[in-house]
Amino acid sequence: MESFYIRVEKVDEAGYRAALQGLAHNKKQETEKMSVVAKKLATLDGGHNKFLESMILWLDVRAPRYWWQEADTFRLSSKQSESTMHTLTAELQAVDMNDAARVENFITENFEPNSCSPETLKWIHEAAQQKDIIEIKKKLPEGFLQTRMWCMSYKTLRNLILQRRTHRLPHWKEFIRQTLELVDHPELLPGLTHEKKS
Ligand SMILES: Cc1cc2nc3c(=O)[nH]c(=O)nc-3n(C[C@H](O)[C@H](O)[C@H](O)COP(=O)(O)OP(=O)(O)OC[C@H]3O[C@@H](n4cnc5c(N)ncnc54)[C@H](O)[C@@H]3O)c2cc1C
Repeated sequence: MESFYIRVEKVDEAGYRAALQGLAHNKKQETEKMSVVAKKLATLDGGHNKFLESMILWLDVRAPRYWWQEADTFRLSSKQSESTMHTLTAELQAVDMNDAARVENFITENFEPNSCSPETLKWIHEAAQQKDIIEIKKKLPEGFLQTRMWCMSYKTLRNLILQRRTHRLPHWKEFIRQTLELVDHPELLPGLTHEKKS
């Protein structure tokens, strides 16, 4: 079993046709001919690949909080997250701590492997029973899995891939791998490995 967890689902993607139409204005050519031009320009940072900003992607990502902390440094994007305060408190209050199987199930569903023991969950559960939101937040392990809708442009994703594909945290490589399998236009993005210059 993997010691880390990250799951990416694509919810929506838009803007390819509009981005090509914008490129066509720029080149004074027909939109239909722009897909080849787009592929050539996609790798040229410094202004030439601005059309990637018109292509928007919505990803539903479930990952541990310590990974989200790093993901939050990408500022040119928008996120909507599950609330640790309201949702988690209610879910925790419903758990019967004397039911070992239910406790184990709750841990598996909500935490990365090896990040929350039954004892730790009991500790958090006590805070939830008191409706002590600050204590819940303080006690919640960094391996707590949070789902967020991450909306970003292909330009932001390009920047992210170039910066993170060799990152030490394995989640980044896995995030990139899953995302590249989901997007409609991987040809406009860097690969998981460095391309050799011919
Ligand atoms: C190995 C590693 C270690 C790191 N360690 C740390 C760390 O210790 N602490 C830390 O804070 N970060 C750290 N970072 C994060 C890093 O500094 C970047 O913030 C992060 O990778 C996002 O990259 P970005 O700024 O290019 O992306 P984005 O935030 O998406 O920005 C994209 C582009 O827009 C520009 N931009 C964004 N906002 C503005 C603005 N307000 N005004 C003008 N231009 C703007 C950026 O310069 C960039 O060119 C680390 C990154 C790596 C890869």
